[in-house]
Amino acid sequence: MTTVALTIAGSDPSGGAGIQADLKAFSALGAYGMSVITALTAQSTQGVDSVLAIDPTFVAEQFNTLYHDIKIDSVKIGMLMNKEIVTTVYHLLNNNPIANIVLDTVMIAKGGHSLLKPEAVSAIRELLLPLATVITPNIPEAATLLDCEEAKDEDQMQLQGHELLKLGCKAVLMKGGHLPSQESPDYLITPMQTIRIVSPRIQTKNTHGTGCTLSAAIAALLPKHCLEDAIHQAKDYLQGAITHADDLKIGNGIGPTHH
Ligand code: PLP
Repeated sequence: MTTVALTIAGSDPSGGAGIQADLKAFSALGAYGMSVITALTAQSTQGVDSVLAIDPTFVAEQFNTLYHDIKIDSVKIGMLMNKEIVTTVYHLLNNNPIANIVLDTVMIAKGGHSLLKPEAVSAIRELLLPLATVITPNIPEAATLLDCEEAKDEDQMQLQGHELLKLGCKAVLMKGGHLPSQESPDYLITPMQTIRIVSPRIQTKNTHGTGCTLSAAIAALLPKHCLEDAIHQAKDYLQGAITHADDLKIGNGIGPTHH
């Protein structure tokens, strides 16, 4: 059976992040990909110039049209921009259950442009977190969700992962890429176990869309694998992409990680 994966996220016309990266990851991992667009961005490898949020009723219309025709096996949620869109996506997924929900708590692009208004953070925390099979915050995003200081070491990362779990998601993948260590440690935290997943840090500036790609890869794999296997395979896929990122030579800024 074909896995059908849906991304609910923002568009990156440069093709490295957002909807475009998600569809590439779905496809590379054997899932049939579909998209509901929440926001348009004008951006290149040099950064985000501007953002246009889609009307929440039209976000709902895109989803409902698909949902009534096509059985969706998994969803990846990315950039949601504002509280109205967060609330709309909550109602859509609460009323139309989908088995696997990967919530990428996207907040700020690497270049510093906001992809989520600060007043929408509480709606993500209170409405969407409890629906998620797994959330994939990096260290700054975890701190924003918990309204606390950023984790400075792996012990603090684990503690914050457990605090996030208490907010109602089934699992947390805490991404440690912001730690100043040689390795890039992630922690998969579920009520049953804590698993350290470590990948060597690869020296490249071309990391645009790594977070989008990882969460989309997990969504592509979850319908056919247990969470731990899906995350390991998704990390391997991303690691392979980052390893070859410098071969791509797209643009003059922070280039994409994969084709
Ligand atoms: N644009 C969109 C639409 C995104 O969803 C994201 C990340 O989620 C970005 C840009 C930023 O990507 P990065 O921070 O990897 O450059």
